[in-house]
Amino acid sequence: MTNSRLRVMSELSLPCAFDPNISLADRSYYGIGGTALFLAHPGTPAELADLLLWNRVYHLPLAIMGKGSNILFSDSFFPGIVISLERMHRMFWISDDELFCEAGADNTSIAEELLTCGRGGGEWLYRLPGHIGSTVRMNARCFGGEISAVTSGILTMNIEGLLRWQTPDEVFHGYKHTSLMDNPEIVIAVLLRFPETRSKEDIKLQMEVYEEERTKKHHFDFPSCGSTCKNN
Ligand SMILES: Cc1cc2nc3c(=O)[nH]c(=O)nc-3n(C[C@H](O)[C@H](O)[C@H](O)COP(=O)(O)OP(=O)(O)OC[C@H]3O[C@@H](n4cnc5c(N)ncnc54)[C@H](O)[C@@H]3O)c2cc1C
Repeated sequence: MTNSRLRVMSELSLPCAFDPNISLADRSYYGIGGTALFLAHPGTPAELADLLLWNRVYHLPLAIMGKGSNILFSDSFFPGIVISLERMHRMFWISDDELFCEAGADNTSIAEELLTCGRGGGEWLYRLPGHIGSTVRMNARCFGGEISAVTSGILTMNIEGLLRWQTPDEVFHGYKHTSLMDNPEIVIAVLLRFPETRSKEDIKLQMEVYEEERTKKHHFDFPSCGSTCKNN
């Protein structure tokens, strides 16, 4: 991008909440990354769709981030829009065992919600760094749990701003592989299913065991992207 176009672009106002000239190092677990022209914070799917449509005019490069725990940003300037869905973090039960979570819901908050409701099967999400949208995109797993095993539906938005529900079979393609890696759609929300009832004491105990395991392995001592030796 030429300097004069960049100057014009940097004076634009995005059609949703945003910050200009944001340090990506401050937003990533690694603590590494250059400056991005914009960080956009849409608060609803409609705001996100507006942003994508707006960008059909301006053609700025787009990137999406969750909590930044599995991203290594370049030190170079990013002359585009990094989209964060952190304002879209609502969750609610749509039936006794199905929890609807917006993509920006934190994994630990989901585990805490399951504890409050006495639902087992999601203890492993506790202290797994990340938002649920990216956790689905990565098909994250740990302690014998995998997000594909508890997901019953995935609401995505394509670059045109069109929403569609996808089934787990469409999205999950095995170990740390999803269709979202090949076809860059944005996860907007996820339907998670937890049929098992469990005593709150047992759930809490299990969560504490997992937390201790992570602490013992120094997960939170230094900047990292997780288990870089074992995983891709
Ligand atoms: C200390 C530590 C421990 C970890 N332990 C584990 C572990 O045990 N098991 C494991 O599987 N992983 C682990 N990880 C990796 C990480 O927690 C997971 O991959 C997590 O799901 C990433 O979530 P995030 O919100 O930080 O994603 P980010 O790092 O922000 O993004 C990851 C990817 O998802 C994309 N993305 C983000 N949001 C969306 C969206 N809404 N729609 C589509 N794509 C999107 C991004 O562009 C990027 O490509 C660990 C990481 C750390 C730092």
